[in-house]
Amino acid sequence: MENCIFCKIIAGKIPSTKIYEDDLIMAFLDIAPINPGHILIIPKEHHTGSSTIPEDVAGRMFRVGSRIGVALKRALDYDGFNLHLADGTCAGQVVMHAHLHIVPRGAEDGFHWNWRQLSYADDAEITDKAQQIIAKLKI
Ligand code: 5GP
Ligand code: ZN
Repeated sequence: MENCIFCKIIAGKIPSTKIYEDDLIMAFLDIAPINPGHILIIPKEHHTGSSTIPEDVAGRMFRVGSRIGVALKRALDYDGFNLHLADGTCAGQVVMHAHLHIVPRGAEDGFHWNWRQLSYADDAEITDKAQQIIAKLKI
């Protein structure tokens, strides 16, 4: 897609430090890493959000993402990794070509997800929320 920086990276019009490429996906270093070695995996076909990515491509992204996470632990001595995908601007997506972050993590790396834990009022609210979601779920 024109004016998409990640499509330009795939086309070689913008330089990137490539880690992996096959017929469906490409992985390269994030230019502004949470930790050194932070990698992005993208589908070669332009998709703005994650829900339209075909199953074989999405599966490849997750599979290769996990393998890269293991490589990050072995190569750069990390303890673990986060796989993160922001879908939508409100979720933190800045580049509108779907991408999976592989964020290498160390026990003492000083980075914390700003995670909160709300609670439901009662069991009825939990059941109601689940029923609303299931009613809209299209696989
Ligand atoms: P988002 O917030 O959309 O999930 O993440 C976008 C990511 O893309 C950011 O972590 C940002 O550092 C990275 N990024 C943005 N522009 C470029 C670029 O031109 N090259 C590379 N390698 N990474 C980029
Ligand atoms: Zn694109």
